[in-house]
Order: sequence, then C-alpha cells, then structure tokens
Amino acid sequence: MERVLVTGGAGYIGSNACKALAQAGYEPVTFDNLTTGWADAVKFGPLVQGDLADRAALDTAFADYQPVAVMHFAALSQVGESMKDPGLYWRANVLGALNLIEASVAAGCLDFVFSSTCATYGDQDGVVLDENSPQMPINAYGSSKRAIEEMLIQFGASTGLRHVIFRYFNVAGADPDGEIGEQHEPETHLIPLMLDAIEGKRPELTIFGTDYDTPDGTCIRDYVHVTDLVDAHVLGLNWLKEGKPNRVFNLGTGQGFSVREVITQSGTITNKQVPYSEGDRRPGDAVRLVSGSTRAETELGWRPARSNMKDMVADAWRWHQAPPYAK
Ligand code: UDP
Repeated sequence: MERVLVTGGAGYIGSNACKALAQAGYEPVTFDNLTTGWADAVKFGPLVQGDLADRAALDTAFADYQPVAVMHFAALSQVGESMKDPGLYWRANVLGALNLIEASVAAGCLDFVFSSTCATYGDQDGVVLDENSPQMPINAYGSSKRAIEEMLIQFGASTGLRHVIFRYFNVAGADPDGEIGEQHEPETHLIPLMLDAIEGKRPELTIFGTDYDTPDGTCIRDYVHVTDLVDAHVLGLNWLKEGKPNRVFNLGTGQGFSVREVITQSGTITNKQVPYSEGDRRPGDAVRLVSGSTRAETELGWRPARSNMKDMVADAWRWHQAPPYAK
C-alpha cells in the first residue's frame, strides 16, 4: 500500500485527511508533535511523534515509511495569536515547512500537497478572490502561509518538487460518522465557541466587531465542510500522481455568511438559544473572505456535498456532544 506522510495528522483537518486517504487506499503516516493535536485522533495509520523543527526526526520518518507524497497540515493557525506573537508563527510555520521541504527533497519524495489559506489574500473587500488575486496578508498567520507557498515555487524550480496548494476558506463540521472532529485548546473558532455557549460550557459568544461595512455589520466568511475539504486533497494527490502541473486551488463554496447569520442559523439547526454579546473587532480580521473561483470543481472534479450550514452545524453539534479526546 502506498503511504502518504501527513504532518499534523493528529489535528482537526489532518485527521480527516487521514481518514479520506485510508478510504482511497493509501496508508496515512501521521507526523505530529501533539502540541495541538490528539493521539486519539490518529485512527487510520501509524503515528510518528515528532517536531518539524527536528530534521533528523523527519529524515527518519521518510526513511522508515518511504512515503510517495507529503500532505502538510502541521501549523499554528490562529489569526489573533499570530498578531500577538508573529515570531511564533514565522518560526513554527515557515522554518518547520523549510525543514520538511528539504527532508522531502532529500528523500526523493517529490509530490507535496500544502494546506494554505484565504488569509494570504488579506483584506480586499469588493475584489473577487480567485487564485490569481494578489496575496496581501494582514496577519502573521497569512504571511507565514504565503511564505511557504513561495518556498514551494522556489524549491520546485530548483529540485523537481511538485505541489498542489489549497487555499482554504473557513473549515467547519465534523466527520459525519462521528469518528473524528474539531477539538482545540484553547478554542478560538466561531462555530465550536458558539456550540460551547449553547451548552453552557462558556457563558456566551462574543461577536468580534459589529461596525464592519457589511449588511449586518459583522464579518463575512465562506464555510466549507471538513470532509469536502479533505476529499479535495485526495484529488490533489491524484492530480500530482498523474503528472499534472503545479496548481493552486481555492477551497470554498462562494457563499458568504456573516457572524450574525451563522449564529441565527445555528440556533435554528440546534433548536437552542445562542447566548452572545457584541464586542470589539479582533485585530487581523478581514471584513469579507469569500471564494470567487470554481477552479477546484472544473479542474479537479471536486464536488462538495456537505458544505451547507445545516450539515456543517449539525455534524459539529453531534461531535460536540460526544466524549472529547483524552488529554
Ligand atoms: N468570531 C467572532 N467571535 C469569536 C470567534 C470568531 O465573532 O469568538 C468571528 C471572527 O471575527 C471571524 C469569524 O467569526 O469574522 C470566523 O472566525 P474564526 O476564528 O472561526 O476563523 P478565521 O476567519 O479567523 O479563520
């Protein structure tokens, strides 16, 4: 069975990618330092506990498992934190990726699928965000991801490393089978925080900013279901295996929801009240991030099936009420 090295395979998106890879006939080998990931989430292949800062550990993982490709998810991913401590993001994300790319090239493992973000576009309200839009990140998280995209291009030109880059919009939902889902500590994302507030696990949700230039004053995001997102990664891997060229794909639905709309719809879907208050803007937030591209559908044949608010909130809600991963 062909193996894929999945960095961050113990995390929310990485663990879902491992499941999708296993279903597609690959063995996912998770490489994760377990600082934000969970050993319990590694269910579909072996776990190598290691850090991207440790080049020797990476070299050993490539030698032991001989993967045919890399899927790189391991990263710090909180916009707010990246504004408070940008150095943390440049060190962990950019230096980590540099080690991984060099180890991958040294091992002759030249197909690389990278988890990037719409945060690389920055705050371009009114501009259609497609893969050719300028990348002007406004937070260190987005900057670190843009830097890694550039690294992949540069290494590709010099070494034969090939890449598919996915720029995600907002990922939500959980595995519909209930095997894996989102668990962050601390939690910073809108939908799980809202579900916590519904359950009384926190007093309320705070809306970050109600004075944006949008119809209801709150930020607008494009939400995509995690199972749809990871399906695209398997298509991206097969794209590379078929010898197709380096390519960037947005992963979003093209439909935007404001924070208030997410709250209202989630109240309806869960049949519960969402306790919330209105607070200040969060530094680093773009007003509107909505994909303006259907390239993933037309070129990869991506067919998102669960990226509607009802399935995303219902799947997240079911997961939220199940026992958490062991600490
Ligand atoms: N948000 C909010 N309150 C929270 C967390 C998030 O109002 O407690 C807003 C945030 O400002 C953004 C949207 O919800 O407009 C999605 O934020 P999240 O952190 O989930 O994802 P991001 O867009 O930062 O990747």
